[in-house]
Amino acid sequence: MSRKLTKSNAHFKKALTRLPLGVASNFRYWGDDRTIYVKKGRGGRIWDLDDNAYVDYRLGYGPAILGYADPRVDEAARQGMEVGGVFALSTEREYEVADRIAKMVSSVDLVRFSNSGTEAVMAALRLARGYTGRDSYVILEGGYHGLFDAVLWATSLDRWDPETTDEDPPLVPYSQGVPELVRRLLQITPMNDANRLEDLFRKNGDRIAALLIEPIQGNCCGITADPEYVRAARQLCDKYGVVLIIDEVKTGFRVAKGGVQELMGVEADICTFAKAMANGYQIAAIGGREDIMRKYGNGVAHGGTYTAHSVAIAAAAKTLEILDETPALETIAAYGERLQAGMGRILNDRGIVHSFAGHPSMGGLFFAEEPPTNYRDWKTSDYTFYDTMAAHLHDEGVICEPDSREPWFICEAHDQSCLNDTLAAFEAAVDRTVE
Ligand code: PLP
Repeated sequence: MSRKLTKSNAHFKKALTRLPLGVASNFRYWGDDRTIYVKKGRGGRIWDLDDNAYVDYRLGYGPAILGYADPRVDEAARQGMEVGGVFALSTEREYEVADRIAKMVSSVDLVRFSNSGTEAVMAALRLARGYTGRDSYVILEGGYHGLFDAVLWATSLDRWDPETTDEDPPLVPYSQGVPELVRRLLQITPMNDANRLEDLFRKNGDRIAALLIEPIQGNCCGITADPEYVRAARQLCDKYGVVLIIDEVKTGFRVAKGGVQELMGVEADICTFAKAMANGYQIAAIGGREDIMRKYGNGVAHGGTYTAHSVAIAAAAKTLEILDETPALETIAAYGERLQAGMGRILNDRGIVHSFAGHPSMGGLFFAEEPPTNYRDWKTSDYTFYDTMAAHLHDEGVICEPDSREPWFICEAHDQSCLNDTLAAFEAAVDRTVE
């Protein structure tokens, strides 16, 4: 199959006159000839302006966990609209959503809402600082926690050679405009190395407010922490008085009802949620231990004009009810397993070495015998085969991220017909890549 992108290409030229890169977010620009514009999404599929249909495994980077335009959630959202929007006052249903979250996630006693994952993580970091009276924090290599200055940093491995230096790789900002001053507050350490973490805490523990981690790295192909490492991190945080923040913006209400914390048997002090909690309606949450959360209103600022909008709250109430009270998550995981088994068969038939990382509901695909165990491994792995295959897949009617960093998100609407179409397209894309 070869797609025509006539209307998307024409729209791109027009959009470029008013929108930088012709899009609303840098990540939506896929090249002058390949940027597509969506006409609509339904279930597990999207259609572009040229009426090309795609089975979609990005799901807006995870939110559409039940599928696009889910009628149950959309009806709830319409009822939420009847309430009237935002009032600079609270509504009754916030309690219902907070109560549901606290019952689903065992570490959560109390909840506050925000509008995006970025905002939730910002709020969590501030809360940890307010609670501990300390300023600095630690994040893990390969993690992504949103678009704010405090976390837009990575270790630069380009000119760093562990054979010739004992020094850690330098920290570099992801973006121009991130102030150099922020670097002083932040340390980045590799995942799955508890000794290094302890060393860091031993040297700087009295200044570190928080360890911020994402045990299944949803922005680094689902690379997964060893649960032993996460449990060791928990103990080290207790020992050094550091607040453990688990960022569940992608994993929350997806990999298990109680998120990655349930999967790994670890409880955070504070955790953050967004994406799956309202099937795409704009809401996020910060949840945590009572004594920490009560710092809100007792010294730590939190608020926001659009926080807990009546539409988003209604959508969250319905989405969480479905995820909690129906077998939706089992269905999603089973579809993910079926997809991976099918892809595995196609690759095995061709003798192509591969592996999967993460969780079946958000799995990363690697063309290597074992998935990387941390960002440093991933940086040195060869992902050119993936990138080429992904471009062919788009032409064949399946949308995954153009590069391997984003896992394949599965939704409840990825039924057998979606899976069949995907596997046929995958087979063709692999063959085109090998040619
Ligand atoms: N934290 C994690 C783990 C994420 O994956 C993301 C976004 O992908 C964020 C935070 C930021 O969320 P948002 O894009 O809603 O601001």
